[in-house]
Amino acid sequence: MLSLPQSPTCPGLFSPSSAADGMLIRIRTPGGIINSRQCYAIANLADDFAAGYVHITNRANLQVREIHKNLSIEVLNILQELGLGSRNLEVDPIRNIMSSPTAGIDSFELIDTRPFVRALDNYFQEHPELAALSPKFSVCFDGGGAVSVGDRLNDIRLLAVVDGGNTYLRLYLCAKDTGVLVKKEEAIALVAALADVYLSYTKQSDRPNYRRPRLKHLLEDWGIESYLKLVTGLTMQGAGSRGLGAGSGGLGMGIHPQRQPNLFYIGITLPLGRLESWQLRGLADLARNYGSETLRLTPWQNLLISDIPNRSIADIQDEISKLGLDCSGTSLYSALVACSGSIGCISSNTDTQTDALKLVAELNQKLSLKQPINIHFSGCEKSCAQHGGSDIALVGTKIQQGDRTVEGYDIYVGVGDSSFGRELYRGVTIVEVPRILERIIKLYQRQQLTGESFGEFANRCHI
Ligand code: SF4
Repeated sequence: MLSLPQSPTCPGLFSPSSAADGMLIRIRTPGGIINSRQCYAIANLADDFAAGYVHITNRANLQVREIHKNLSIEVLNILQELGLGSRNLEVDPIRNIMSSPTAGIDSFELIDTRPFVRALDNYFQEHPELAALSPKFSVCFDGGGAVSVGDRLNDIRLLAVVDGGNTYLRLYLCAKDTGVLVKKEEAIALVAALADVYLSYTKQSDRPNYRRPRLKHLLEDWGIESYLKLVTGLTMQGAGSRGLGAGSGGLGMGIHPQRQPNLFYIGITLPLGRLESWQLRGLADLARNYGSETLRLTPWQNLLISDIPNRSIADIQDEISKLGLDCSGTSLYSALVACSGSIGCISSNTDTQTDALKLVAELNQKLSLKQPINIHFSGCEKSCAQHGGSDIALVGTKIQQGDRTVEGYDIYVGVGDSSFGRELYRGVTIVEVPRILERIIKLYQRQQLTGESFGEFANRCHI
């Protein structure tokens, strides 16, 4: 057995971190694309070394919790040979490169971003010096299609746009539009140059090693213009028109046609990204038997199977429900989000994961939805799991009841003064939460306008 070094920050396959429930590893799956053989290997790992389940994270990689014995060298070798471990151990904890989960199959995309993801991942493998950057350093490629990852936070985002009849990639830094357009063939060189200058900033920083500066700190210190001036040797275009942007973000569950004639992809809801190992094996079997052995993990902690012929759709839907999973998109699980909560984070006031799953299990018995409602559980004000607004947000708090303290939530809806929305209730115990949510969701269902989301309804009616 190999005793692995523990990571002080973000975990990787070769650098686990410890959590309240045991060791935790993250397996990088660039672009979220994974095949059936890789799924079988990960399911075996979860059974043999952990508690028999995995999570899909909000960077579309796989996380295994509750590891109670060290992974053997043989297992690590198998995972590495299957492409699930970095060739270069030093860069293993670098964050997963994100792209739309529908890259290459989206009928509306301007660019298939899969080659960019592979090329940048190779670049990282060959440049171990980049491991000195903040472990939060993050890059995403957005092909400008119907399924945009624009609602996910990334340090560097390259979004495909059309400008003057040509397709470019438009550069965003920490969600700010720089107005810079770059040719497709220069995209990797641009990210490399940005990372290089960021690395020299990191080396100059007097922050301690365990608090390496984020890219946002560089932008605060230098400003975007000065940063870009140092990124030399590229023929970047100036700010042009805004071009054609990407879709509205998020991925509808259920069946969708692909750009390839007569092929479809199917979106499957996973409660808070969790899959039991037997379900993971079952989905890998379905991808092998009905599709192209391709599964795509999404940054919304769901999963899709692509390349399903029309004739197989009814059969695969049936098989998915036999695995205890939902692909209708109308379950409350489909847009449920929660941070790790008290099982993985000492800042949390509540056990968000358990509370969220219990709440939705209860509400699913009483409610049937026509469109998803995004419910976001956050253990504290930091909002790690979702950075944009939500329909309903529950923020963990401690409530004083006489001489004892109990866990509870502040409840927010729609848009308001707080980044979580407008405060509706303060200090509600978890026992009271289901009744309140059932009441406001039923009110929404009685009074909603056609196509109106819960958040829009809450804003319009000021509930
Ligand atoms: S939102 Fe707060 S409680 Fe949740 S993971 Fe982030 S810091 Fe921890």
